[in-house]
Amino acid sequence: MGKSVCKGCGIRFPTEDMTVVSGLKYCPECAKPRLKEARTNIELNDYLFNLCNKDQDVMPYLTTQVKWMVDNNNFKPSGILATLKYVYDDSETAPPFNPRSGIQYIVQKYYSTARDFYIQVHHLNQTSEDEIKRILTMPTETITLTRSELDARDKRSSEKRKDELYGKEIDLNDIPDDD
Ligand SMILES: [Zn+2]
Repeated sequence: MGKSVCKGCGIRFPTEDMTVVSGLKYCPECAKPRLKEARTNIELNDYLFNLCNKDQDVMPYLTTQVKWMVDNNNFKPSGILATLKYVYDDSETAPPFNPRSGIQYIVQKYYSTARDFYIQVHHLNQTSEDEIKRILTMPTETITLTRSELDARDKRSSEKRKDELYGKEIDLNDIPDDD
C-alpha cells in the first residue's frame, strides 16, 4: 500500500486516505480546513458574480479587491462573504451595489459589525430553549428589565466568549451546520 507525505503536516499517510486539494495531497485532518476554504472561495465567487449581475467585466475588479483585503487587511474570504451577506441580503435596508466602487469600501466599513452580529447570532443559538420561551412569554416591561439584566450577566461571560471568538474566522457554514 503506497504512502504519501501530507503537504500540511509533513507526515506520511496511506495514499488512499488522502485528499487532493488544489493539486496537493493532504491527510484527512489537514484536508478538512482546506476543503472548507476552497468551498468558501467558490461561494464567495458565486456571491460576487450574482452581486454584479453576472457582469464578466466587473468580476476581475471585485476579485482583485478581495485579494487586496485578504493580503492587506488580514480579512478572511469567509469574513468577506459574511459581511457581504450581512450588508446586501436584507432587501429592506441594503444599499444598492455600485459596480464602480465595488465592495472594498463596504466590506471594510462593515466587517467588524458583521462579525459582532454573527457572534451574537451564534450566542443566541446557544441560549437554551427554556430561556427563550421564558423571555418570549414575559410581559413587555419585564422583557425590557430582564433584557438589561441578561445583558449585564452576559457581559461577564461574553468577555470570556469574545476571547474565544475574537479573530476567529466568521464562517456562515459554521452557523447552520457544523460538520
Ligand atoms: Zn496532514
